[in-house]
Amino acid sequence: ALPLHGSLTVQCYTPALEAKQRHRLQLQQAIRGATERGEMSLAFQPKLSLATHKILGAEALLRWQHPELGLISPGEFIPLAEASGDILSIGDWVIGEAMRHINEWRALGLLNDDFHIAVNVATRQLMRKDFAPQLLARLAQQQIPERFLALEVTESGLMSDMNHAQQQLAKLAEMNIAVAIDDFGTGQSSLAYIKTLPFSTLKIDRAFVMDLETSAIDRELARTITQLAHSVGCDVVAEGIENSAQAAYLSSIGCEAAQGYFYARPLAAEAFVAWCGAWEPLYSTPPLSLSSHG
Ligand code: C2E
Ligand code: MG
Ligand code: MG
Ligand code: MG
Repeated sequence: ALPLHGSLTVQCYTPALEAKQRHRLQLQQAIRGATERGEMSLAFQPKLSLATHKILGAEALLRWQHPELGLISPGEFIPLAEASGDILSIGDWVIGEAMRHINEWRALGLLNDDFHIAVNVATRQLMRKDFAPQLLARLAQQQIPERFLALEVTESGLMSDMNHAQQQLAKLAEMNIAVAIDDFGTGQSSLAYIKTLPFSTLKIDRAFVMDLETSAIDRELARTITQLAHSVGCDVVAEGIENSAQAAYLSSIGCEAAQGYFYARPLAAEAFVAWCGAWEPLYSTPPLSLSSHG
């Protein structure tokens, strides 16, 4: 094949390319009905306050266990489901599952009042006319106060219809549903987004976190993004924290919250509950007051 890049489509069919396309097609067909067949589940990754180490909530991350193909990563199947439109019904299912867990955990007394579950929402889902009112109706039906649910949207796609995106987000803001802009800094029009769209939270992408220890430029970028977010009234969550040095630096620049393998990987529901139980007692005292005597 020719070494072509960018948006050019290579039309010569090598065996490897053909196999790849066959695999994509197979996945795209298998996605249909996967929720009904019980192949999908949610994993939960804790989100922690960098100042107090308290658990602020969890991000729900979709997992697909195919009976023959095994575990397929969302990075692979979400784009396929977005392309086919299956993301709409899958997204509805994800929201339903998140609500089910919220109620289950509330009944167990596991959730304090500022705990929330954040659900990733595809642009196509967010842009549906009735998205906000339908969400409100579902929350009311399940008797879940709005603050227990938060949303995460990536910037890709919002630009195609800024007016409509703005309206949709305004409706959610009016309903007191927190919406985060996910993977901030990896898209193309980040600055226009945060200026125009009413987000409550900005998530710094892992790309800006992974080299914090070695890259002065990345430290400066993380600091600038955090300041920028604060200047438009957004909280900042950093994703992909893998060590204590990254956590310490992010905390020092005023980043409010963190997620990452350093604290916990995304966990199945039962494992998440167990993790929360083991974590809280360790940090029931803020770390600062521990050192204030020393
Ligand atoms: P995201 O929303 O940015 O989620 C963060 C991703 O980073 C997750 O990958 C998570 O497992 C991973 N991660 C978290 N901490 C670390 C870390 O310390 N190191 C490293 N290397 N990775 C970390 P995951 O679960 O594979 O999800 C990938 C993407 O798929 C998500 O990125 C999100 O955009 C999308 N996605 C996942 N679930 C859903 C869903 O229910 N609906 C939609 N529309 N998209 C989803
Ligand atoms: Mg996310
Ligand atoms: Mg993210
Ligand atoms: Mg990311």
